[in-house]
Amino acid sequence: MLPAPPTPCTNTGNTMPPSLRVLVLGGTTEASSLCRMLGTTWPTCHAVLSLAGATSQPHLPDMSTRIGGFGGVAGLTNWLHDHAIDAVVDATHPFAAQMSQHAAMACAATQRPLLRLERPGWTATPQDTWFMVPSIAEAASALARSSRWNTKPQSVFLTTGRKETRPFLAAPQHHYLFRSIEPPCPADLPPQTSVICARGPFDLEAELKLMREHQITMLVTKNSGGTATHAKLEAARILGVPVLMVSRPPAQDTPHAKDAAAALAWLHQCAASTLRAV
Ligand code: NAP
Repeated sequence: MLPAPPTPCTNTGNTMPPSLRVLVLGGTTEASSLCRMLGTTWPTCHAVLSLAGATSQPHLPDMSTRIGGFGGVAGLTNWLHDHAIDAVVDATHPFAAQMSQHAAMACAATQRPLLRLERPGWTATPQDTWFMVPSIAEAASALARSSRWNTKPQSVFLTTGRKETRPFLAAPQHHYLFRSIEPPCPADLPPQTSVICARGPFDLEAELKLMREHQITMLVTKNSGGTATHAKLEAARILGVPVLMVSRPPAQDTPHAKDAAAALAWLHQCAASTLRAV
């Protein structure tokens, strides 16, 4: 039986929660925060952090870590069995839809409780001009074909991730400023693109300076949420720059937590129900 959706952590007394074996699917700051909390507050919890291996020099917490794909749903199912995992926290990025789907399927097959740890998305204020699009492809298509933008070349600040630039080849009339942690493949970039490699967090002053220097007229971003990369939206608001905002993929039907503390509370409940079932 799955524990109910998370409630605030109640383990504030001296009692140590029982042991639990947890897989944390990571790649986000929320995953790292949860792992730090587990390490400092719950010595009998054996947690393994899993990373896709997308970043060549990830910031790794001091704990058990594995890197690389599991080999689809079957591979993850086997891994959960082989490592006697009691519970899974899917703390992958809000746009890592495939991994979330695989986690839901493998946990259903193995009857492991699964929690989705996902930070809330950003929301527009009345001062913002956001155009919502369902995918990166639709954002590129809007730049290529929408009568609002296709005739007048725009100066586009593109922050969609280095593996997701190809669709913008279809809108080569614009100038692009592309920013990612690691460099993208040059063949996947539209012709008039400047690349900046940088890792957040970014502050408002620097974002304003960058967007002014490049005379940005359009910002394209995924609705990743969180604080680390939010300043670009504030800068766009101040400069009157419209935003093409890519909506998140549909969520899996699993319990959700919006921060690491709520995920920790859910794991305490898992441990308590595992103990009761023994
Ligand atoms: P994805 O499309 O959902 O996943 C593609 C494949 O990568 C999965 O099927 C899985 O391979 C492997 N994978 C993904 N996350 C994994 C993890 N935490 N541990 C082990 N294998 C994992 O995901 P993605 O968009 O490529 O993102 C990859 C990673 O980068 C995720 O950890 C995500 O949190 C992080 N990230 C993604 C974005 C984004 O915008 N998508 C942004 C920042 C960080 P198998 O099928 O072989 O198991």
